[in-house]
Amino acid sequence: MAKYVIAIDQGTTSSRAILFDRSGSIVSTGQLEHEQIFPHAGWVEHDPMEIWEHTREAIGQALSKANVTRHNVEAIGITNQRETTVVWDKTTGKPVYNAIVWQDTRTQPIVDRLAAEGGVDRFKDVVGLPLATYFAGTKIAWILENVEGAREKAEAGDLLFGTTDTWVIWNLTGGVEGGIHVTDVTNASRTLFMDLTTLSWREDILAEFGVPLSMLPEIKSSSEVYGHASDESLLRETPIAGILGDQQAATFGQAAFDAGEAKNTYGTGNFLIFNTGEEIVKSENGLLTTVGYKLGDQPAHYALEGSIAVTGSLIQWLRDNLGLISSAPQVETLAAKVEDNGGVYIVPAFSGLFAPYWRPDARGAVVGLTRYVNKNHVARAALESTAFQTAEVLDAVNADSGVPLEELKVDGGMTANDTLMQFQADVLGVPVVRPVVAETTALGAAYVAGLAVGFWENLDDLRGNWQEDKRWEPNLDPAERDRQYRLWKKAVTRTFDWVD
Ligand code: ADP
Repeated sequence: MAKYVIAIDQGTTSSRAILFDRSGSIVSTGQLEHEQIFPHAGWVEHDPMEIWEHTREAIGQALSKANVTRHNVEAIGITNQRETTVVWDKTTGKPVYNAIVWQDTRTQPIVDRLAAEGGVDRFKDVVGLPLATYFAGTKIAWILENVEGAREKAEAGDLLFGTTDTWVIWNLTGGVEGGIHVTDVTNASRTLFMDLTTLSWREDILAEFGVPLSMLPEIKSSSEVYGHASDESLLRETPIAGILGDQQAATFGQAAFDAGEAKNTYGTGNFLIFNTGEEIVKSENGLLTTVGYKLGDQPAHYALEGSIAVTGSLIQWLRDNLGLISSAPQVETLAAKVEDNGGVYIVPAFSGLFAPYWRPDARGAVVGLTRYVNKNHVARAALESTAFQTAEVLDAVNADSGVPLEELKVDGGMTANDTLMQFQADVLGVPVVRPVVAETTALGAAYVAGLAVGFWENLDDLRGNWQEDKRWEPNLDPAERDRQYRLWKKAVTRTFDWVD
């Protein structure tokens, strides 16, 4: 009987379930998008019940498309949108509020309050992160402070917190009927609450945020059997054996297991992860320090991360808010009609700027407009903004590591865009390389789960699965490149100090 591993990829825009075979190839996929809820400017929410129902349906789709049952599935791996925060009542199984999504900026007053003494970097040495709205801890605090009755229930031990890995696993293992409450080190490293050295929750920091320890999941490695799917599930009795936050999963799926290896994912936002091995490297250049992965009892691998909030979502904005295009791929059709950006630069600081600037006071800008500019230039400038933001992050990685990266492994939805990938290579001055299996996030989750149950032997087994699909070589005059990059950086400064 054919054997597979199933990966659940609970992402920002959709929930997917993907069956992988031993060669790391996709056998079948189930996928459902969920609603993006925008109650106010700067607020972004998801409905956790919708996420769970869609996850279940996606599993059903993947199994039926491959015409297999749970008996063909050796293990379940989970990867998830990180930082997105769900708080639910363990006695009813119902969320007390919608999931607050990673891009949501409502917690800025909480950040300001906590930073009033000691500044935004006051916990950075311990947790690797600056205080920012991005991270889950601020979102939990907001729910406890703003949802009626939440604080009392939390103090009574009735509320549980989880990122969506934890929420899905709790439901998949039975929910109110004995669901397990766990997360892995990579997700825990995005809360502001986990000590990077000991890999455990810091009660002193929790006290500063007013969050009871009883709400938090148990921190596990990224690869071990945490529990089994419940009898109600299509996958009943199948071991749940891997968890990785989405960006760490993509890094693992790209087989970037060793110090000095890196990948960049182009999705809703962009995330460059640079593996630093067993060493915890503190960034001097606006990068985050995070956990890369931890396999069972082996030591954790750490990473530097450059997170960019808005890349693919700028393309969605052109489509949904401006109506400039009717589908994301169409942006390339427009951009290809012009030689260059016509002098236009778009800095999509929709929720401030993340790496390497960390400026919550920034808001988006379109600069360089003249009567000459048309919509094709705007489309091109939108694509180029992704490449320029990435170049700034790579500069920071190179400065922190002292060893310039020689090529960049890429993945994610936007890598389908040839114009963007060529421009990326041009701006970076190094080749950009895409693997055959572009679903590296799901693949990474499958890998950690498969390793835990012996479906794959070891990391060399997985390295052997990586295959190059396409490579873009730099092909722009360096002087012209420098000129455009300088203008981009000037455009970025125009977005600062915008929020009163
Ligand atoms: P996520 O996992 O963050 O949901 P994906 O990796 O699925 O994201 O990528 C989807 C993003 O990529 C969307 O924001 C979409 O606008 C963008 N995108 C998809 N196809 C293209 C394309 N051909 N050109 C530019 N952007 C694209």
